[in-house]
Amino acid sequence: MKSNNLRFASLLGLLAAVPLAGQSTLALFHPGQIRVLILSGRNNHDWRTTTPALKKVLIDTGRFDVRVEEEPAGITAGTLAAYQVIVSDYNGPRLGAATEKAIADFVHSGKGLVVVHAADYAFGDLPVLGDHHVSTSIVEAPWKEWFEMTGGAWVRGTSHAPRGYFNVVFADRNHPVARDLPAEFETNDELYHKLKLSPEIHVVATAFDDASRGGVGKDIPVMWTVKYGSGRTFHTTLGHDVSAIQIPGFEQSFARGVEWAATGGVAPAVIRETKPPLRVLVVTGGHSHAPSFYTMFDQREGIRTVVEPHPTAFRNDFRRSTDVLVLYDLSEEIGEPQRQHLREFVESGKGLVVLHHAIADYNSWEWWWKEVVGAKYFLHDEPGHPRTKWKEGIDLRIRPSGKHPVLEGVSTMLFDDEAYKGKWISDTSTPILTCDSPYSDKVVGWISAYSKSRVVVITPGHGPGSHRDPMYRKLVYNAMLWAGGRK
Ligand SMILES: [Zn+2]
Ligand SMILES: [Zn+2]
Repeated sequence: MKSNNLRFASLLGLLAAVPLAGQSTLALFHPGQIRVLILSGRNNHDWRTTTPALKKVLIDTGRFDVRVEEEPAGITAGTLAAYQVIVSDYNGPRLGAATEKAIADFVHSGKGLVVVHAADYAFGDLPVLGDHHVSTSIVEAPWKEWFEMTGGAWVRGTSHAPRGYFNVVFADRNHPVARDLPAEFETNDELYHKLKLSPEIHVVATAFDDASRGGVGKDIPVMWTVKYGSGRTFHTTLGHDVSAIQIPGFEQSFARGVEWAATGGVAPAVIRETKPPLRVLVVTGGHSHAPSFYTMFDQREGIRTVVEPHPTAFRNDFRRSTDVLVLYDLSEEIGEPQRQHLREFVESGKGLVVLHHAIADYNSWEWWWKEVVGAKYFLHDEPGHPRTKWKEGIDLRIRPSGKHPVLEGVSTMLFDDEAYKGKWISDTSTPILTCDSPYSDKVVGWISAYSKSRVVVITPGHGPGSHRDPMYRKLVYNAMLWAGGRK
């Protein structure tokens, strides 16, 4: 008896020393934050970018501790034990009996599940889709509990109109996910229609599926909740790609949906305090340019762009409406009222980004090119200085030079563009980009020494070769953020 008791006691001690893996990891999470596991790693959508974007939305609220599982088929009950909510960005093959049971038990026991966009395609009646446009022909039996957990699924006939703009309207404004949010928001996404829906769902938001755009001509659910055992599911059909995920209405409803699924409530603090976007005024005119130029400003996080032509853009004092001025115009002359507004703008400490042919701007205004831009493009031969030469269709290798916030994440670029040779650059400017083409000056990007505002000058940027280059786009985006004081 005695020895048996002892053996039993030592066995208990052993169990206490080696608890379930999930429970032992609890202490390793941020105290007070909601523990989230995102399932990813397979999707006919670009999960390599959408999953980090979803994670970022949650992390930025300061309310969530988030991990990502890219091979969810190995998950056990122990893996899940420490988590409060699973977010599925997964659309791939079945996960195997053990993992599926662990997930179903997890939700059934009173925890949360959040289903994003194509995650409601998975495990249903339709063939397994390949990874982001990889074709495949796997057909599997459906996972019945998944539909009970998600309340909505793709079936034959489910589809969507072409991706575009539509308004999402909160149908239940008293639901914790919608409470305190505006009654509706505009998004640019796919609107799934003809999903198979469970009669058990509680609709949180709808959108009108415009028949003239290929929709079904009525309001259809885009967010809902469903109960599974004691657990809670929040389902959003939105979130096709990163730009759709970065729309504030998606970010807010998603973060709140995750919190609600995890806890059954939404604390007011989850409403993210976002800085207002940088207001960027892009000025064109006086020089032809490719439409690809404008794609650099489309849907960039944290900026809102207005485009105006020269000289209308400067007709009034624009300090109150603009944080960063991006010049892509070309005008040798500039009138006195316009000069005054430009001078007031840069003297007030606002940001300036000068792109490509705009370095030839306002040649007749010495203070502008000498003090503010820190360079001169000679449009004509001048005494002691021949005019600057340009050549289009050159393969330019552009190298970042030194360390500067504008160069963050920017490496060597190689693209077809127009080179300038023979401009004057102030020796007070700080070079940030160089080029070794014989058709180009060595310094092709710099920070001006002008002290009252932040001025970045980037001389490549002629056409689609640069406009569509990911590094060039990053560079211009960084330049706007830095000029606006956000870097
Ligand atoms: Zn999609
Ligand atoms: Zn050009």
